[in-house]
Amino acid sequence: MSDNNKLARRPVALVTGGQRGIGAAIVRRLAQDGFDVAFTCRTPEDIAHELCAEIEMQGGRGLVLASDLQDLDAHAELVENVVAWGGGLDCLINNAGIGSPSRGDLLDMQPSAFNLVIDTNLRGTFFLTQAVARRMLQLPSVHHRSIVNVSSVSVEMASPERGEYCMSKAGLGMATKLFALRLATEGIGVFEVRPGVIKTDMTAGVAEKYERRFQEGLVPMQRWGETSDIASIVSALASGQFGFATGTVIHADGGLAIPRL
Ligand code: NDP
Repeated sequence: MSDNNKLARRPVALVTGGQRGIGAAIVRRLAQDGFDVAFTCRTPEDIAHELCAEIEMQGGRGLVLASDLQDLDAHAELVENVVAWGGGLDCLINNAGIGSPSRGDLLDMQPSAFNLVIDTNLRGTFFLTQAVARRMLQLPSVHHRSIVNVSSVSVEMASPERGEYCMSKAGLGMATKLFALRLATEGIGVFEVRPGVIKTDMTAGVAEKYERRFQEGLVPMQRWGETSDIASIVSALASGQFGFATGTVIHADGGLAIPRL
């Protein structure tokens, strides 16, 4: 690939769930690091348009797209919209996800809650990744290509009161390995970032409980994770600096998942 081709367009990233929380921090950081960034959410709010305006003020390009991850039929159109806008697609960040609708006894978990969380976090993410990977393979490789899955410490740490979430993230951990193997010969690196407890809307309802548990030593680094902690890791992975790594898991949890005596 010539340097002229590289200069012809900036790398293009698609971030799911990018208008708030960890996703918004990833959108911001990728834009700062030179990506044109398209991002999805279920229903764009003012904050999504403000984020695009902020990126454009800084000389970048941002695009918000309403797209429900659960709606598999919508994925092909989403991918085409991003390619048409960006002129390519080099990076997918699978960030969108939901927590368990309610916490409770595993023995009382309802099939509706199981389906909702699995359909969003695992089924939706798997099939969007499949659609993006297929499209990437049809496009010329201009920049480093990568897929980054934002999973959770819940891949390996069991919380029986929100089992559907843990199972969805454990499945995402395996999906990372499967896509890493399938795409290794294509030069597409596939990575997993496993956040611990991060300060966002998702944890707002249980913030007091976590504050107490931090004081009891739950997190060795003794603090909340910030959305920027995750975004900087994702951007480094997306930038192509880890050229011989794939299927790699980065723990971003202040030491939470380290087994202790
Ligand atoms: P938030 O609840 O703050 O944001 C979630 C984002 O995902 C929102 O933008 C939301 O869209 C989007 N989303 C949810 N469902 C869908 C859907 N069906 N289709 C499209 N977009 C959807 O969550 P966080 O920022 O806290 O979490 C981001 C990711 O990080 C999740 O995958 C989560 O599991 C993971 N994580 C979070 C941790 C934490 O402590 N916060 C810890 C470990 C992992 P909309 O804006 O329209 O609502």
